[in-house]
Amino acid sequence: AAKAAGGNRYALFDPAMHADLLDEARRRAELERALAEGQFVVHYQPIVELKTSRLVGVEALVRWNHPERGLVGPGAFIPLAEATGLIVPLGHWVLRQSCQQLARWRVAYPHACDVYVSVNLSARQFQAPGLVDDVAAAIADAGIPAGNVTLELTETLLMRDTAATANALAALKRIGIRLAVDDFGTGYSALGYLRSFPVDILKIDKSFVDGVATNHEDAALAQTIVQLGRTLNLQTLAEGIESVEQSSQLEALGCTYGQGYLFARPTAPEQVETLLRRS
Ligand code: C2E
Ligand code: MG
Ligand code: MG
Ligand code: MG
Repeated sequence: AAKAAGGNRYALFDPAMHADLLDEARRRAELERALAEGQFVVHYQPIVELKTSRLVGVEALVRWNHPERGLVGPGAFIPLAEATGLIVPLGHWVLRQSCQQLARWRVAYPHACDVYVSVNLSARQFQAPGLVDDVAAAIADAGIPAGNVTLELTETLLMRDTAATANALAALKRIGIRLAVDDFGTGYSALGYLRSFPVDILKIDKSFVDGVATNHEDAALAQTIVQLGRTLNLQTLAEGIESVEQSSQLEALGCTYGQGYLFARPTAPEQVETLLRRS
């Protein structure tokens, strides 16, 4: 915006920048209203055991059911929610919603009581005061075992190797929550945090999965992550599996779990029920 203003680009009042800020304020207000009016919905993507295709869990993925624009994916609003801090109440809502959904499924499909729900946690949310208490309350209020809840953290968050991070992670582990590293391998490969932090699952990023059956380098990287997981006693889960070839190759490399369009897209809770009934 500043550049577009041409010669006057360091002026204090830049009309283009002012318009941007107005736009951001408007979009933030719109997001806040959407949360207050219940326009967000949670979809769930099945997570399977590669060897058997058995359903083991679901990842909760938020969508905005916009009155005019229809179903909007998180890529279009999570960045703004992160920037404005609205991700804290939104993420809290997703967590509570997911725990309550799992509780209803556990009652309706008791044979599927091992199925877990995996919820994405943003760094902002992780740093917000009361996170551990909020998580404990969401689980207690839903009446589900903490062991059936996984929280997905990013490498960037885990790289902040601070006492506060360590304490929060230890407290979550004490409750009985499982911790996954999302998009593993896309960060700065500072692997030290794997030694200091109590994570349980490595989610191999889709960017390695894409070429795993066709590209030697991608296959080597995926294999390295699987071996790392085995050495450190962590489960490995591959995200974004779209073909049978990718699935077989990952299974051959020793990856235990998978998630992707090959198995199922993220869907409304009702569609997950077909799978729960069959499982
Ligand atoms: P993520 O946590 O890595 O989630 C996986 C993303 O990959 C999802 O995109 C999912 O729909 C997509 N995906 C899964 N399988 C396939 C596949 O086979 N092919 C392709 N092309 N894509 C696949 P989605 O739902 O658009 O979510 C994008 C990101 O938004 C998520 O990435 C996560 O980082 C973030 N997000 C979603 N819900 C939440 C939330 O409740 N809280 C926070 N903090 N972030 C969220
Ligand atoms: Mg995730
Ligand atoms: Mg992911
Ligand atoms: Mg990803």
